[in-house]
Amino acid sequence: MITDPTRAIEWMIGLGEVRFLGCEDGPAGEAVIVIETAADREGCRDCGTVARSKDRHDVTLVDLPLFGRRARTVWRKRRWFCPDPDCPRGSWTECDEAIAAARQVLTSRAARWATEQVGRHGRSVSEVAGELGCDWHTVNDAVVAYGEALLSADTERIGTVSALGLDETLMVRVGTYRTQRFTTQLVDVRAGRLLDVVPGRDSNGATAWLASQGDEFCAAIDYVTIDLSGPYRKVAEEQLPHATLVADPFHVTKLANTKLDECRRRTQQDVLGHRGRKDDPLYRCRRLLTKAKERLDEQGAEKLAGLLRAGDPRGDVGTLYTAKEAVREIYSHADEPIALEWVTQLADDLQDADYPVEARSLGRTLMRWRHAIVAWHRAKVTNGPTESMNNLIKRIKRVAFGLVSFRNYRIRALLYAGKPNWSLLGTVSPR
Ligand SMILES: [Zn+2]
Repeated sequence: MITDPTRAIEWMIGLGEVRFLGCEDGPAGEAVIVIETAADREGCRDCGTVARSKDRHDVTLVDLPLFGRRARTVWRKRRWFCPDPDCPRGSWTECDEAIAAARQVLTSRAARWATEQVGRHGRSVSEVAGELGCDWHTVNDAVVAYGEALLSADTERIGTVSALGLDETLMVRVGTYRTQRFTTQLVDVRAGRLLDVVPGRDSNGATAWLASQGDEFCAAIDYVTIDLSGPYRKVAEEQLPHATLVADPFHVTKLANTKLDECRRRTQQDVLGHRGRKDDPLYRCRRLLTKAKERLDEQGAEKLAGLLRAGDPRGDVGTLYTAKEAVREIYSHADEPIALEWVTQLADDLQDADYPVEARSLGRTLMRWRHAIVAWHRAKVTNGPTESMNNLIKRIKRVAFGLVSFRNYRIRALLYAGKPNWSLLGTVSPR
């Protein structure tokens, strides 16, 4: 048991070989503790000559709260100089990563704690900054620095991936015109792990990322799950020609719903000459239309039929509704060849010249993607995990009020949805 009071304080400070010099109340009522390192001697880093102490200066570090009070640790840092006149080193300031990493305003332990709060638990930077009593940038800098260090130390994180999902996310809207900036996320669909985020939604980012992972990584990928987008198809065909392309059911159904919606809005304009208003029949049935047919009760089905009779004289919306339900039916077939027959027939029918323009467009897309659509029946991998990853990322964005910097965004997304090995955090330091 420690009974010496000074030793007891040093034990409570818990920073190892440091001396306790004093404590006081800070200007905002925070607890201020002044320390110095116990190392009295240091060799010159260039020539090894015993260095001489030059002077000291105080560095105030934001630390973890002390008994519920916000705390600051003042490190009375030594400056050394090399007495050898031939040595180019001159003077330097001592550093000790056990206390704080170079250029960080937070102590190492406070920085690691903040990284885990924000990165792992998805708390907002401002909330954590409020708890520590420092500003947003101080915490954010620490999260980015330690988060990057953790992610690069965690070399096992990505591992072998057999099913890769590619999906776009809207990162942020910037500037006067609210220009949208997209990113592409790469997901291990089976493990439900966000592998990485690259800028843009063209093929360049994902292509470069795959190339950087190497041949062995790419060769292990059997399935690539994507939305119905040309750029991601290009990525798969060029970088992973051996892998089976799988069109994600979620996006296939979503496309059918989008076409249905386009048709409803066009018919609305054609028939009534204005955009949907709350009493217009087509406007009133917009939610009933996108609902799965089996989820409509008798009353809902009757209401839908009535509204369509009133608002859809040519039956275009009805056609698209039937098409949407037929698209959903692709997934009720258990067998890939039968599903392929079904989707080919459907795609062919929809391209009939008598059908509305939206149906023909849907038919063309289904035809172009039919093999990828039915590959799902074999792979049974979906972008579901990618989508839920998307939701996680949306949560981060909400918490962060829109992240403008891609670097911030990537680190935050990977810490939250990339499942890093958090046990490594205690061993990493920022560069
Ligand atoms: Zn020297």
